[in-house]
Amino acid sequence: MSNTKLRAAILIVSETAAKDPSTDECGSILQKAFESDGGDQWDVAATEIVPDNALDIQRTITQWTDSGEWMNLIVTSGGTGFAVKDITPETPAPVAVKLPVDANLIGSVVAEDVKAAEFVPAFRASIVDGYAVVVSEDAPSAKGVFPVPFFSHAQAGDIPELHPGQVARITTGAPLPPGATAVVMVEDTILTSKIEEGDEEKEIEILTDAIRPGENVREIGSDVKAGDVILKRGEGITAVGGEFGLLASTGTREVHVFKRPVVGVLSTGDEIVQYDRPGELRIGEVRDTNRPILLTLVRESGYEAVDLGVASDKPGALEESLRAAMRKVDVIITSGGVSMGELDLLKPTIERSLGGTIHFGRVAMKPGKPTTYATIPFKNNAGDREIRTIFSLPGNPASAVVTFHLFVLPSLQQASGISPVGLPRVKVVLDQDFHLDLHRAEYHRALVVMKRDGLLYANSTGAQRSSMIGSFKGANALLCLPAGNETLTRGDKVDALMMGKLYPVVNKILVSGRS
Ligand code: AMP
Ligand code: MG
Repeated sequence: MSNTKLRAAILIVSETAAKDPSTDECGSILQKAFESDGGDQWDVAATEIVPDNALDIQRTITQWTDSGEWMNLIVTSGGTGFAVKDITPETPAPVAVKLPVDANLIGSVVAEDVKAAEFVPAFRASIVDGYAVVVSEDAPSAKGVFPVPFFSHAQAGDIPELHPGQVARITTGAPLPPGATAVVMVEDTILTSKIEEGDEEKEIEILTDAIRPGENVREIGSDVKAGDVILKRGEGITAVGGEFGLLASTGTREVHVFKRPVVGVLSTGDEIVQYDRPGELRIGEVRDTNRPILLTLVRESGYEAVDLGVASDKPGALEESLRAAMRKVDVIITSGGVSMGELDLLKPTIERSLGGTIHFGRVAMKPGKPTTYATIPFKNNAGDREIRTIFSLPGNPASAVVTFHLFVLPSLQQASGISPVGLPRVKVVLDQDFHLDLHRAEYHRALVVMKRDGLLYANSTGAQRSSMIGSFKGANALLCLPAGNETLTRGDKVDALMMGKLYPVVNKILVSGRS
C-alpha cells in the first residue's frame, strides 16, 4: 500500500546538472537503490537538482522538512568535495591532535588506538606484606623456621638473590628478589627471633605448607602488557580515573585525541552592562547575566571559553565583534538580538555582512523560539578557508541556558568526537500536574530526585518565564513536555534531560548540594 510507505526525497547538488539535467546520473541510481534495496518500504516522493548555492539547497530542504508533506528521509548527492563551491556538509568534522598526557586531557575523546609502551607491573611484585620464599610445584612451602637474611622494600635498587631455605621480608608492591617464586603473607607466619641490635627479625616460622609458585605475586605485565591496546579510538578520557590512570601507569607521554573546539561567548545589546559594575542601574540598564553563565557552562562542559565581551546594537559594531571573534575561536555563542525588533541585528549581520548561512532561525519550542544556528565562511591567517559555527541564542537568560543545553552542547560534543551527544535522557514520574503548551513542546526546569522505591520523580522549580533565570535554581533536569491541550497529571511519565547530578530523597529529607 503506497500511502503507508516512507517518503524519501533526493537532492542533487551540481552546477552542471542544474544547467543540463540529462548529465545527472546520481538521481536515477539513487531512485533504483530505493526501489531494489528499500524492502518495498520507500516511495521517492521528490527529486530536485540545484546548483552549489546555499540558498537553493536550504530552500529545497526546508520545503521538504517544514511543509505539511514532509519527508522521512532526504538524501543529498554532490557538493561534498573540496572545491570552494562545495558547501553541503557545513558542520566541521572532528579533527585529531596530538597532546601531552596531563590533566588537560580529561574530557577528550581518543582519536587513534593507544598501545602501552611498557609492562605493568614492570617487575615481579608482591601483592601482600610477608616473606618471599623459594618454592616449586614439586616442593610447596614447608612449615618450619627460616632465616631472614635481607628485606625487599617498595623502592628502586638491587636486591640480593634468595636461595632455597631462606626467606626475605617483603612489603606490598616491592620487587621479588631474584630466585624467589612466591610470597607467604605475614598473617601465615610468626616472628621467632630478632637480631640483637634492633627490632628486625632474624628468623620466622612459616605456618602453612600450601604456598605454590606465583602465589601473592603480580607477574611482569600481568596488569598490562607492552603493546596491548589500552584505549580505543572513540573512547573518552574521564575524570573517573581509569583512562588517565592507564596512560599514566604505562608511561604514555602523548596521545591523539579529537580537538575540542574553543568557544567564544558574546553578549549583545546597548542596555547590557557588566554584571559586577558597581552602583545602581540607570533605567533601562540590564546586568549581563548570560555571558557569565554561558562561559561557566562552556568550561564546565570541558571546553575552553573565551570572553568576547558585549557588542553594541549599533550597525557595524556587531559585524566587527563577530569578525574579531572568528579569528580567536572555533564556535561563537551570542545571546540577544535574534528576536523580531528593529535592533535585532544578528541575522542580517550573519547573512548580509558576513556571507554566512542561517541553517535555522526559529524553533517551535518553549523557551527558545528565536534560537538561530549559522555557519560563516572564514579565511584564517594562513589564507585557508574554514567554517565558523555560530549559535545565536535568545537574550532572555532562561532561554539562553535551555538552548545552550539543547543545541550548543551536542554540537560541541559532536565536534570533539563524543558519542552519543546531548544530555542524558531518563524517564521520570511526574510528582505534580503539568499544563501543556498548546503549540510548542516545552523544556521545563525541574528537580528530579530518586525516591526510596528507586524511581525518579520530577517537580517543577516554579514559574518558567524565560526572563527568570531563578527558575534554574535547584533544577537538575529539563522535562520534555509535548505540545498539547491536555494536562499531564501526577503519576504520568515523561522524558527528562539531566543537566545536573541526581540526589536521593530519603524519608522526605532532600540530600542535596554539589560536590
Ligand atoms: P533581545 O532578543 O536582544 O531583545 O533580548 C531579549 C531580552 O533579553 C531583553 O529583555 C534583553 O534585555 C534581555 N537580555 C539580552 N541579553 C541579555 C544578557 N546578556 N543578560 C541579561 N539579559 C539579557
Ligand atoms: Mg537586544
